[in-house]
Amino acid sequence: MRVLVDLNRCQSYGQCVFAAPDVFWMKQEESLEWDYQPPAEQEEKIIRAVHACPVRAITLQTGADR
Ligand code: SF4
Repeated sequence: MRVLVDLNRCQSYGQCVFAAPDVFWMKQEESLEWDYQPPAEQEEKIIRAVHACPVRAITLQTGADR
């Protein structure tokens, strides 16, 4: 499982941080950082984050690589 964030779209709203705080976090309050290859048990929360993002910047890839 891989998590991609399009930082050109991301407006640092932080909705993903609320949805999946173990995967997404803010550095210095405006710069988003995240776990690129989070553990499988985070999937449900990441899906919530994907839907919560107002600009649809988050892509979740699941499949063969994990
Ligand atoms: S919810 Fe979307 S816009 Fe907001 S910080 Fe997360 S990725 Fe960026």
